[in-house]
Amino acid sequence: MVCDADVLVVGAGPAGAAAAIHAADAGLDVLLVDTATFPRDKTCGDGLTPRAIHQLGRLGLADEVTRDYHNKGLKLRGFGGSVTAPWPEGHYGTLGSAMPRTEFDHLLVRTAVARGATLWEGATATAVRREGRRIGEVTVRHGGIEKQVRARWVLVADGVRSTFGKLLGREWHRGEVYGIAARSYCTSPMSTEPWIHSDVELLDADGVVQPGYGWIFPLGDGRVNLGAGALSTDTRPARVNTKRLLSHYAAQKRTEWQLGPEQDVTSAMLPMGGAVSNVAGPNWLLIGDSAALVNPLNGEGIDYGMESAEMAVDLLLDAGRRDLTLVWPHLLRGAYGEAFLLARTAARLLTYPRFLPVVGPLGLRGPVGAVVMPAAARLMGNLITDEDRDLVARLWRLSGGVVSRARRDTPLWSSTV
Ligand SMILES: Cc1cc2nc3c(=O)[nH]c(=O)nc-3n(C[C@H](O)[C@H](O)[C@H](O)COP(=O)(O)OP(=O)(O)OC[C@H]3O[C@@H](n4cnc5c(N)ncnc54)[C@H](O)[C@@H]3O)c2cc1C
Repeated sequence: MVCDADVLVVGAGPAGAAAAIHAADAGLDVLLVDTATFPRDKTCGDGLTPRAIHQLGRLGLADEVTRDYHNKGLKLRGFGGSVTAPWPEGHYGTLGSAMPRTEFDHLLVRTAVARGATLWEGATATAVRREGRRIGEVTVRHGGIEKQVRARWVLVADGVRSTFGKLLGREWHRGEVYGIAARSYCTSPMSTEPWIHSDVELLDADGVVQPGYGWIFPLGDGRVNLGAGALSTDTRPARVNTKRLLSHYAAQKRTEWQLGPEQDVTSAMLPMGGAVSNVAGPNWLLIGDSAALVNPLNGEGIDYGMESAEMAVDLLLDAGRRDLTLVWPHLLRGAYGEAFLLARTAARLLTYPRFLPVVGPLGLRGPVGAVVMPAAARLMGNLITDEDRDLVARLWRLSGGVVSRARRDTPLWSSTV
């Protein structure tokens, strides 16, 4: 069986579904395929920063996501200090939220279908037939049948492992910093608390600091998303069982949040900061996690997945028959290169076991913490735009330029094929 489409989108998470919405809105004939059947779960903290809400606004979905619950910013705790950092005024607005991925992803997929995309669920892209360097046809196994899909463009949004992306040459560089994390759902009477919470000092049962951080993201539905994670590199792997770390963290927070038992505990890895190569070919490109579009300082990727989806569709509309191999990585580097490289470099410091116990108390406590941490929260969320002219924004851009020059040879959506 052979099917034709203008755009085949492989993977219907936030990146793929957003791409399908933008492409369908632009009048393209879109086929969206996903191995899963929706609603489906995805291991995540479910947190949506203002950057994500802004992007949802561009899809016409911001009100729906923030109507029942929204948050005002971040409370950061650890090493005897505590800082409350409201989402900063600026381009992205001051509204954040959180929504379980079973609901969030389903909303996006339903919207894609409502706007005109064709959806195949339980459909896995398994193979590719090339015409030179272009993709000629993609084999999609759907309902026990192998179907050949011929599309003018293929957008690959198949997530962290990117099995389909690998067929196309995508390579993930684990020498660069990546995340490992576990999440759970707990009932809590504080589920409408309007702040998301992060703890950068995690203690085990013997009071020893663990190399990781914990989060509690209220969901507004009687539950919170509670999780724990750590940063890792191949040379300094985080030797930590994230599910056990999560359970220690839940135990520490149980009384304060009146938490029920941890449910649906799952763990996963996070590629980060563009540490992948070969993200595009003549008529295909990678978006979202498959392109490692995750902020190394806070692990958020939903916003970058949706942003890259819009950028990709704009590119297709503009590209005609132009070869995308070098254009797409160039666009990604322009949009995120400096910020991600700088964040990756800072995150790498956190993988040194002695770094946080020494720097944490200085940064979080007392008058220094009161000045430094709100700025840090803004940087962690990458909520600075080119238009921002204040001191923190200027310093951030300056450091970004310096790090970019110093780490010119680091993998950053590089092309090797
Ligand atoms: C523990 C944890 C906590 C996190 N917390 C947050 C957070 O609070 N906020 C935030 O913004 N981000 C968070 N992230 C990151 C976020 O989950 C990802 O960045 C986001 O899901 C990326 O979306 P995506 O569409 O690229 O990929 P995914 O959401 O992973 O979607 C990929 C889709 O592709 C499908 N697929 C895969 N292979 C194929 C194939 N061959 N054929 C067809 N379909 C295929 C899969 O079934 C899946 O539905 C967290 C991640 C982890 C692991």
